Order: sequence, then structure tokens, then C-alpha cells
Amino acid sequence: MAINNGAIAAQRLINEFGIENPNDYTIEELIHVRDIILEEKKISNSDGRIVFGKSKTKISINSDIKYIGRRRFTLAHELGHFELHHNLNTHLEDNALTLDYFKNGGQEYEANQFATELLMPSKSFIAYTQGKKFSPELLRDITEHFETSITSATFRYLELGQHPIFLFHCRDKKVIYWKNTNNYYRKVKDITKLQPPTDSVAMEFFNDGTIYRRGESAQEIVKSTWFETGENDSDDEYFEYAIVTKDYNTVLSVVWEK
Ligand SMILES: [Zn+2]
Repeated sequence: MAINNGAIAAQRLINEFGIENPNDYTIEELIHVRDIILEEKKISNSDGRIVFGKSKTKISINSDIKYIGRRRFTLAHELGHFELHHNLNTHLEDNALTLDYFKNGGQEYEANQFATELLMPSKSFIAYTQGKKFSPELLRDITEHFETSITSATFRYLELGQHPIFLFHCRDKKVIYWKNTNNYYRKVKDITKLQPPTDSVAMEFFNDGTIYRRGESAQEIVKSTWFETGENDSDDEYFEYAIVTKDYNTVLSVVWEK
């Protein structure tokens, strides 16, 4: 496995300040002790940005962000750029594509890894999720407990959760990429860069805007919705939970076996 520079930088910061519990501090406080200027304002098409000045660095956060967790994750992500990429850049803009960066290596991925480790330290995450049955409700509980975005909580679950899942990230009616829990293999249909499957919950949203209510988040699908099935395969029942971000026209679909 590749070295996780983001997580290492987050642990360094945690050690530097002797932080024991993620709830003992706010991200704003950490930004403040690093002597970074923090401003809140309307930014179109962007959640946050960081500008490295000659003497001072400035982080801007979009005042239109509706969810506290998403705001916190964005702030932590920008702080990650400061800790990791200070010498490399003068200006970084973070927009809708943040989700895309969970896929790739590079700076955006590192900043996400930093934010993930800072907000949901592996130890605390494992302790919190251990022995709990997987469900959309659990993902929402994690989001609330760690005060982070549902997207980042879901990616963290893929990494550290006990129950195997698949994630399909779609934008503008196209499958951008997919990821699976380590050592959990299913042959995914050849759909990357193409439309999501006709009978998927993701496609339902793109077709007519359907978003299921809380109690109905886990929608029944079948194995052949997202995966290849052989002649002798029975078409097993699966679930799909589509996490929709309307602003950016994206769906992150979580798929797991019944
Ligand atoms: Zn970034």
C-alpha cells in the first residue's frame, strides 16, 4: 500500500498539539494557531480555497455551505494543503471535484487523507463502528458523531468498516469511478464514463430527480444491476443507497449484499 502522506501529516499535527480526542478542538482553532487568516464569504462553484501569500496564508470558506460537517471537512482539507503543500503552490481552489480526488493520488487526495485522519482518526473510527450492523443509518450516525460530511464518512467506512461495500461515484449521468472494500471482489459491468445502469437508484435520480426519504434509503436492487452475473449465478438481492449532492449533480452510490 502507498504511504499515506496525508494521514502522517495529520498525526504529526495531533502530536504537536498533544490532542487526544478529535472533539477537544475545532478546526478553526488549528487554523488560528497556524496564523492563517480565515474568511467566510460567498464563493461560486467552490467550497473553499487557500492562497499562500508572502507573509500570511489565507483560507476562504464558502458561506453558502449548508451542512456543518461539509464545512468542517472543507476547512480540514484546506488546512491539509497548508501542512502538506505549502511550498508547492500559491493558490488552490477546491470545488465540486473534491469527491473525484478520493480516487486519485496527488495533492487533492493527500488533502482529503489529511482531513479524514484529522476528523475521523482510525482508532476512534474503528472503535465507533465495531460490532454495528451496516446501514445508511450507520453512515449518518458516523457523520454526526465525527461532525464530517456524509461523503467522507462513507469513504472512511470503505477503508475501515467491517462490512464489505462498493462505491460508485457518478456525475452528470455518468459513472466517474468505482471503488470496493479490499479483498471484496465482484465483477463490475463495463460502465466507467458511461451512464449508470438503467435499473440503478443512481439512474433514477438522474432521470427524474428521485431522492428517497431517510427510512427508505436502502433500496432493493439485484446483483446484475451493477455487476456481471454468469449463467449459473442466481441474481442475488443487493441494496443501493444513493447519496445525492444536488448542487453538483453527483450521486455516490453505496452497494452491499443483503
Ligand atoms: Zn484541495
